[in-house]
Amino acid sequence: MPPTFASLSDELYEELGSVCRGNVYRRGDPGFVDYATLFNGNVVCASMAARRVIDLLYRIVLFCAKHSLSPSVKAGGYGTAGWAIGGDIIIDLSQLTDIDIEPPREDGSFTSLRDIASIHSKGKKPQGLTSNPGKRRREDDANLRHYDSASQSVAAFLRNSSLSLPGSREDSPSPSVKRRFEAAQQSSSPHSTGAITQISSGSSALSDSVSRISFRQSPSTLATTPSTTPPNETPQDLPDSEQSGNLATNTSPGDANPFGYLETTNNFPPAPPPTALQSSYNPALSSASWTPQSLTFTNAVNDSNQIPIPVRAEPIYPHAYVTFGAGMRQKEIDTYTAQHKLEARYLTSGGDGIPYHVPFAAHPVGSSIMILGGFGFLSRLHGLSIDNLVEVEMVLADGRIVIASENQYPDLWWALRGAGPCLGVATRYKAKAYPVPIVFAGNLLYRFNKSTAPSLIKHFRDCVKGAPRELYANVLLTAGPAGKDSLVVVQMCYVGSREKGQEYLAAISSWDGERCLLNEVDEKSFLHQQDSVAQVLRGKGAPPGRQWFIRSALISSLPDDIINDTVMQFADTPVGCTWLFELAGGAIIDFEDTCVPKSQREASFTIAALHQWEMDLDDDRCVDSAEEWISDTLKPVHVGGSFPSFLGRHEAPERVKACFGSNWSRLCEVKSAYDPTNMFRNTFWPLDADGNPVDPRTHEPATPKFESKKLDGEVRKVFI
Ligand SMILES: Cc1cc2nc3c(=O)[nH]c(=O)nc-3n(C[C@H](O)[C@H](O)[C@H](O)COP(=O)(O)OP(=O)(O)OC[C@H]3O[C@@H](n4cnc5c(N)ncnc54)[C@H](O)[C@@H]3O)c2cc1C
Repeated sequence: MPPTFASLSDELYEELGSVCRGNVYRRGDPGFVDYATLFNGNVVCASMAARRVIDLLYRIVLFCAKHSLSPSVKAGGYGTAGWAIGGDIIIDLSQLTDIDIEPPREDGSFTSLRDIASIHSKGKKPQGLTSNPGKRRREDDANLRHYDSASQSVAAFLRNSSLSLPGSREDSPSPSVKRRFEAAQQSSSPHSTGAITQISSGSSALSDSVSRISFRQSPSTLATTPSTTPPNETPQDLPDSEQSGNLATNTSPGDANPFGYLETTNNFPPAPPPTALQSSYNPALSSASWTPQSLTFTNAVNDSNQIPIPVRAEPIYPHAYVTFGAGMRQKEIDTYTAQHKLEARYLTSGGDGIPYHVPFAAHPVGSSIMILGGFGFLSRLHGLSIDNLVEVEMVLADGRIVIASENQYPDLWWALRGAGPCLGVATRYKAKAYPVPIVFAGNLLYRFNKSTAPSLIKHFRDCVKGAPRELYANVLLTAGPAGKDSLVVVQMCYVGSREKGQEYLAAISSWDGERCLLNEVDEKSFLHQQDSVAQVLRGKGAPPGRQWFIRSALISSLPDDIINDTVMQFADTPVGCTWLFELAGGAIIDFEDTCVPKSQREASFTIAALHQWEMDLDDDRCVDSAEEWISDTLKPVHVGGSFPSFLGRHEAPERVKACFGSNWSRLCEVKSAYDPTNMFRNTFWPLDADGNPVDPRTHEPATPKFESKKLDGEVRKVFI
């Protein structure tokens, strides 16, 4: 029998509607499903009602307290554990869409949230979204489409089955990479990512004597000729438009140091010259030195395809402040700040400002990463998302609305940056954003071969050792689609120009153990880069989407034997599995005043298993292979848990505690002070109100049940 779920009683429905003036969707109402749907399709929502928040959020919290109901909070809905829809009442924040960007004031300070009316205050109009905020927003909103166009060549490569390499042999994938579920996948995945172009040659076994290239080496020892083709390679046989992300063919001056301002002791610049467009900066108040050569590039002119063309400019401000409602998603915030550039000092004509960006995740998600961690392309340079918050407006369990900051509610401030969802409902954030005029970024794709992949991963590891903070880099193994070659993808994002980033591309691409199938590393706007991880992982949209399972950890080092074991294990994973090693460190280590401890911050790599599979596929390996890799293979190098943003479904309480290391007991004290009844339990919090560990399966929404049915002559698994 399919499970039945209760709806909110008429009495409570009316009371909730009256205390918060409507916008309540009971189970069964048209629209309820919009608020009860997540990125992960493998979660059953048992909530009684959803409430779309516009204002009076504290009244919903008090209503829940009065009736002993448990609320859950939904921002972007990317949390695969499902906590966002795990409560009796879903508080959907999608209408909190205010957004603004401001340069620092004369003294470097910012306008406090208490002095900025929220969008629903009298007379204030929403600035962020032009669409009707009441309408459910989707990833394919027209105004986000150019964000989606990131790494188009990768997307085209991954999806266009007609693309063929010279010598490709589509009918005979390497035996080492044949994946399970082929029959199921082929029969049931009309939306799978399509055939991947294969090559049959180039599987030369590599010795492990990889050239050890360190970034401390002189650039002259490396191939520095700008090129998007790796050494000894001819470009693959793709249509011109798909060969590379050659968005910016105008090369930048070789002597420019775009991020020179990062090297000054005090980042605040001196007076811009009279020609600079500037409204609020007072040079008299700055004592910092400004390197005259600190040129950078701004994406000035958009052609009809919104493709940016760089011109030379330098940022006036070392950072800006972005205020945004908790209903804004990363994509929307990035798009807004890219469109609302700040004034710059131009050295060539045509500039229209420099875009500033908040450090977010590498995969576009919702705003709760601001209180959970947030590791992405800018983290090694500027810290995690939580490290760049300056104020948070939050509704507490007792209904109080507070603005926490370094000086206000310091204990809450310390704890909410990493464990925010366990302490209250954040409604508005104020965070630092940094000038990112251009990045040198993209993907290098190789065929996965058991015998050569260890060498590539070791080469990657050695290349990124000692890399500057400007370099984000990961290597990922991605399985399938069924019957097709799997891939090893190296992703890099150098926060700077080609001249600076080329050195690292040359180092990484010097590996010649396999032919590089695609190299689309090039200068591009940061907005353009921000979707690149999503392009590689792109799954089916909701509803019901795909099943997702994510496990992550932080590791201290990447020894050879662990790489060897990882590759052997990965060769047996099901289709849809991606294992990722992301270079950590850099600025993440600089911050010590949050509940995410130094021991976690000092990790060398963050690793993640990101598994997605079809809804009608039911196989334990989709979960077990990730668990085995992380808890067994990687165990010798674990530093503790993961960054809290990566906590996923069915995490053991011990793993959750490990994310906070020696800060755990202080965190428990803050939790007891601000949420003594454990109202915010639809979160990763692993204890009940009495402090006893909870079984994760009892405080997360259930996994759907399947049954076998004969459909179109085939036996398929379907939800019941
Ligand atoms: C494919 C994929 C890739 C990812 N890549 C990265 C990455 O590169 N880097 C990284 O750091 N993370 C990454 N993540 C993890 C992601 O950052 C977290 O899942 C994040 O919590 C999602 O944010 P959201 O707002 O969409 O979550 P939601 O599902 O809406 O919420 C997650 C949790 O936060 C709570 N919450 C949400 N909003 C609020 C609020 N305003 N106040 C209080 N509590 C709230 C919810 O109740 C829930 O417990 C990835 C996730 C996926 C699925």
